[in-house]
Amino acid sequence: MSIPSFDSPFVVHWFRRDLRWQDNRALDAALTSGHPVVPLFVFDKNILDRLDNQHDARITFLHDRISHMQGEASDLGASLLVVHDDPINVLETLAENGMMKAVYTNEDYEPYAQTRDAAARNLLKTRGVAFHTFTDHVIQAPGEVTKPDGTPYTVFTPFSKRWHLNLSEENMKTSPSEKHLGSLHTWDSTLPSLDSIGFKRSSISAPEATITKNVLTQYAEMRDIPSVRGTSRLSVHLRFGTKSIREAAKEGFKYSEKWLTELIWRDFYQHVMHAFPHSMKDAFRPQYDRVPWRHNDEDFQRWTRGETGYPLVDAGMRELLATGFMHNRVRMVVASFFCKHLLLDWRLGERHFAAHLLDFELASNVGGWQWAAGSGCDAAPYFRVFNPTSQLQKFDRKLTYVRKWVPEYGTESYPAPMVDHKMARQRAIDTYKNALSSLS
Ligand SMILES: Cc1cc2nc3c(=O)[nH]c(=O)nc-3n(C[C@H](O)[C@H](O)[C@H](O)COP(=O)(O)OP(=O)(O)OC[C@H]3O[C@@H](n4cnc5c(N)ncnc54)[C@H](O)[C@@H]3O)c2cc1C
Repeated sequence: MSIPSFDSPFVVHWFRRDLRWQDNRALDAALTSGHPVVPLFVFDKNILDRLDNQHDARITFLHDRISHMQGEASDLGASLLVVHDDPINVLETLAENGMMKAVYTNEDYEPYAQTRDAAARNLLKTRGVAFHTFTDHVIQAPGEVTKPDGTPYTVFTPFSKRWHLNLSEENMKTSPSEKHLGSLHTWDSTLPSLDSIGFKRSSISAPEATITKNVLTQYAEMRDIPSVRGTSRLSVHLRFGTKSIREAAKEGFKYSEKWLTELIWRDFYQHVMHAFPHSMKDAFRPQYDRVPWRHNDEDFQRWTRGETGYPLVDAGMRELLATGFMHNRVRMVVASFFCKHLLLDWRLGERHFAAHLLDFELASNVGGWQWAAGSGCDAAPYFRVFNPTSQLQKFDRKLTYVRKWVPEYGTESYPAPMVDHKMARQRAIDTYKNALSSLS
């Protein structure tokens, strides 16, 4: 799509992980800047070109959401500029005739985004355009919650305590962006089709989030049972910013401390990613990169297909492929099975999740995987190996979840366990122990 040329002063709000008009920090600042606002969304070629699956459900979700937002803008007599390109090219073009006065956007802490935003800032500086960024994706931004000596936390419990002590009114303050939408600019806008950006419609759709009193007050009891709707399903909406994290946290404060703690885990992993970007690719604790992972593609494929012969693992893997979601308890079990029972490199499992989870967030995904592998900050100790059979007895005793995803369980067509639990557990403990002691 061609980028319109605006011949009077304007500012841009650049949407990324904040796809909503309501309670949006950077958008509100743009809307109250005194200039008409061009809201911009870029289908970023640098990201899209790396995705292999034409039917990627996240792109369908994004496309639907942008289409919806364009409709909302049009109802207000305004427009949303949507472009398929490299965002730096887009900003460069918008800056060409000197009318763009500033770009407003919400912070994104992923390594790619940090590089992209540094490039945007540099480019805009040379054009005399201000680049304003805001905290919106998390409650407290990386760097805000630190140890008294200013260094980052690497253990969750003290982080969480400090998070509570630090929390200010400003952190939770709503930004009434939806009240200022009269400042949006208007022109003829179109939406690039899914086809034109290289994708096809996926049949997978995102779950609605339920952050109701009912779910939250029962959360502590129900959150580990995969067969019931005991959690909020908010993750995909926080990932794309279709819901405000501040609104969510307010519900947590009202109804469930336990649930609020999960939101703080999310902040924690964003802080870890920002302070230790190396840990997105390598073990947070470098000695764990000495573990001699097995290379076995057949085992990897059986795990991805949900044919391990361990029903809770198989149910989870099939739920993931069918819905783009997996229950948290089951994520822990399948990840542990992968790293410990199969002794496969956590990075491979992490990449598989990254390709299929609708709620994929680099920080939380790597955090969850390194927790399971034992290599992360505040991770499970390596000698703690989940027993997938006792996990099943504990959390899906009546097999409700298993029967839903593995209908052949209990028949002859269901495979025998691909690896013996006792042997695999001991093999993992010995392998880790040797690798870690060989270093010392
Ligand atoms: C191996 C592994 C990989 C994971 N990958 C991701 C991922 O890519 N993206 C993602 O959002 N979460 C990830 N998680 C965390 C968690 O499984 C999901 O956030 C949760 O299952 C989403 O369901 P929900 O929204 O119903 O969560 P709820 O239980 O209702 O929790 C509310 C919100 O808190 C946050 N949250 C909950 N648990 C965690 C956690 N352990 N770590 C960080 N944030 C949390 C999420 O934003 C979630 O939406 C992973 C966990 C593991 C063990």
